[in-house]
Amino acid sequence: MRHIPLLIIGGGIGGMATGLALARAGFETHIVEQAQEFTEIGAGIQLAPNALRVLESLGVLDAVSDVAVRPRNLVFLHADTGRHMTTIDFGAAFLERYGQSYSVLHRGDLLDVLLAACREHPKVTLENNRQVVDIEDHTTAAVVRFADGDSYRTDALIGADGLRSRARLLLSEDRPFTEAYVAYRGALPMSEISVPVEPDDEIIWLGANRHLVQYPIRRGELYNQVAVFRSPNYTPEIEHTDQWGGPDELDAAFATSCEQVRTSVRMFNRSRRWPLYDREPLANWTRGRITLLGDAAHPMFQYLAQGACQAIEDAECLARQMAEHNGDIDKAFAAYQAERIPRTALVQRVARGWGHVWHAEGDVIEALRDRLFRLRSADDYTDLDWLYQPHAA
Ligand SMILES: Cc1cc2nc3c(=O)[nH]c(=O)nc-3n(C[C@H](O)[C@H](O)[C@H](O)COP(=O)(O)OP(=O)(O)OC[C@H]3O[C@@H](n4cnc5c(N)ncnc54)[C@H](O)[C@@H]3O)c2cc1C
Repeated sequence: MRHIPLLIIGGGIGGMATGLALARAGFETHIVEQAQEFTEIGAGIQLAPNALRVLESLGVLDAVSDVAVRPRNLVFLHADTGRHMTTIDFGAAFLERYGQSYSVLHRGDLLDVLLAACREHPKVTLENNRQVVDIEDHTTAAVVRFADGDSYRTDALIGADGLRSRARLLLSEDRPFTEAYVAYRGALPMSEISVPVEPDDEIIWLGANRHLVQYPIRRGELYNQVAVFRSPNYTPEIEHTDQWGGPDELDAAFATSCEQVRTSVRMFNRSRRWPLYDREPLANWTRGRITLLGDAAHPMFQYLAQGACQAIEDAECLARQMAEHNGDIDKAFAAYQAERIPRTALVQRVARGWGHVWHAEGDVIEALRDRLFRLRSADDYTDLDWLYQPHAA
């Protein structure tokens, strides 16, 4: 059986960032990915200063900046009336406060940057077409078995295998949780966008049980959109079918929205939808020499745009703890989860609540949200500090 010192399951943003961070800290790392290629879906991703700081420390910020867009503002508008609700200014005061801008980019471009850095690093090796079907905890080692019958033995296993993580099954019997929301997303060439857009801003249109996010990506060549709504047809019995959240529901959800939103929603490719899930925070991520990272550890709703940002923070923390503990895996894993669980649990919880605030209608939450939004100035970052400022390590 092949012996691997450090094995990462999953070549997504979390796994790739972790491979790079561990290698730069001096550890040989092997990444296995079930897909035939390392790819991401054709949609955008937002990276906040907390993630950009890590990417800078990993030496990839310039490459990310080359393909990203730095929006001037994040503007919240009402989806029905078009009324301005609030603006977050990402300009000089934001940069000064957090040491980094806010960036939006194509997911594939981000993964390509991380993949290229991993491929260039002599301490990272990568394998595709390697689906892990079984994981055994041997206390001071772990054994993974692949779909083709092959097995690897490793001193340390990092489960960066996403929302439906196989590694997590060793730690918890919990299941992904849905609030019956569904997303449609995708990016179109800017030339095909049939609504007037503000190319330097990110726009979020808020309405009852729905929202639409829009921003330019890939140096402004593409326009990314994410439409999210609560399915009226969802029931637990049909959860794992396609009988809820279909394109007819998408159109109905945005039917009362203003013309610009309705036109934007018509532009979506309707062939794929993403039911949205999070999970309750776990009190423990580690069993023997197996630990979790990214969505496998802390899947969250996307309302704070932090799932990948937190996975990138995980990567930095795990590599730093491995270095600080001179490669003592037990101590490093313990320190890693002690640092990361409280922070990611808070982000998971706030993300869920923030979704309720976004989608509120006709209740006290909506009234308070609108009043708060109205009263704050564009350069009031008080409510962002907990997330974007460097946190205690
Ligand atoms: C609509 C939407 C919008 C979002 N927007 C943002 C945003 O703007 N900013 C942000 O920070 N986050 C955002 N997120 C969250 C973000 O996409 C995720 O948190 C992030 O991609 C998680 O990365 P990961 O590497 O942990 O997991 P994944 O991206 O799920 O990667 C897991 C990898 O493991 C592989 N894998 C799984 N099982 C196995 C196995 N058994 N064997 C081998 N390989 C396996 C998979 O193929 C996959 O490549 C958004 C999410 C959604 C749904």
